Amino acid sequence: MKRRTAIKNIGALGAATTLPAGWLTNLSTEQPLGIALVGLGNYATHQLAPALQHTQHCQLTGIVTGTPAKEPKWQEQYGIKKANTYNYKNFDRIRDNDEIDIVYIVLPNFMHAEYTIRALEAGKHVICEKPMGMNAQECKMMLDAQNRSGKLLQIGYRLYYEPTHLAAQQAGQAGRLGALKTMESSLGFRMGRPGIWRIDPEKGGGGAIMDLGVYCIQAARRMANQLPVSVFARGFTEETELYKGIHETMLFQLEFPNGAISNTTTSFSSYVDRFHAAFTDGWLEVKPAFNAWQQLGFESSKDLGITPPKLFYQQIAQMDAFAQNIRQGTSVSASGEEGYIDMQIIDAIKQSEREKRVVNIEYQ
Ligand code: NAD
Repeated sequence: MKRRTAIKNIGALGAATTLPAGWLTNLSTEQPLGIALVGLGNYATHQLAPALQHTQHCQLTGIVTGTPAKEPKWQEQYGIKKANTYNYKNFDRIRDNDEIDIVYIVLPNFMHAEYTIRALEAGKHVICEKPMGMNAQECKMMLDAQNRSGKLLQIGYRLYYEPTHLAAQQAGQAGRLGALKTMESSLGFRMGRPGIWRIDPEKGGGGAIMDLGVYCIQAARRMANQLPVSVFARGFTEETELYKGIHETMLFQLEFPNGAISNTTTSFSSYVDRFHAAFTDGWLEVKPAFNAWQQLGFESSKDLGITPPKLFYQQIAQMDAFAQNIRQGTSVSASGEEGYIDMQIIDAIKQSEREKRVVNIEYQ
């Protein structure tokens, strides 16, 4: 079943001309690389573990959890050995485990840097969920640890491998729609509940902008094919009892060197999920654009002959691409450097909001 589904998936992907060169080819008969998921919460349970049942080049071989009650269920459901089951106290012993090649950090944002660095120091390749860290300084420490380790680091940017986004970027940059002028790149869900780490500034790092901002920033900068040079941001909080020390909604505008401008809403209290790029001679849109549980849509004002294939788990392509990077020694598309860039932009967005002024973004 797994093999059949995977072949079906590869067939669909094969229709795309926009995927990173090399990752679809070289399907090997070698043993898939072993992945350990660290943090068995919502995303690991409902997206990553199911997606790992369909990957070709990596497989779920280990878990790390602080909740012993979860262990038997995961061991049984996914055939995970007791010897490949860790908690946060004995986590570093993962270095001695040959069945785990990749450690996937799916913890709250404030734990990303610590566990990424510890996993790299344990000699493992690492996938770290977004946002890469709590700020750019943490991301720099993570990159330094990666360079010391000689291992690969991927940020869990599933959309870097998603055919609709890749097709949209290629179409936008191909020129048939004219010059890129304005973009609308927005994501919001009703997510705020008392007590969750996402709305705690010490654990989530700043609410909607931290949780959702990276998607909107990436869509804009990857369409513009440039890094933004300045930002102006405003934060709003209506439910002041719920959102303390963070903004419920953050709006920001990015300005690019080629003159393109992107306007974004990120929100924890209303639904929006779209990316619209307007050019001198037409437009294109991805809608829904960013969420993980719906197939993404593509529309254009001109017939560009593009029908991006649909992925049933976007993470399959992301994780298989990383395993192929490791096997083939190729560079990682959703690299730590990309995560570091995004966090520098987010830091500038927060600074703009605090100082109520346009901030020029200085990249390190
Ligand atoms: P979650 O709250 O459902 O899961 C977090 C897990 O971490 C839980 O199992 C929890 O028990 C564990 N944990 C360990 N120590 C903890 C502590 N001190 N405080 C709180 N929890 C602790 O969160 P989630 O939605 O699974 O998100 C996890 C990470 O994945 C986040 O960084 C998030 O941004 C990211 N994420 C990415 C995507 C995507 O599409 N790429 C989607 C959802 C979440």
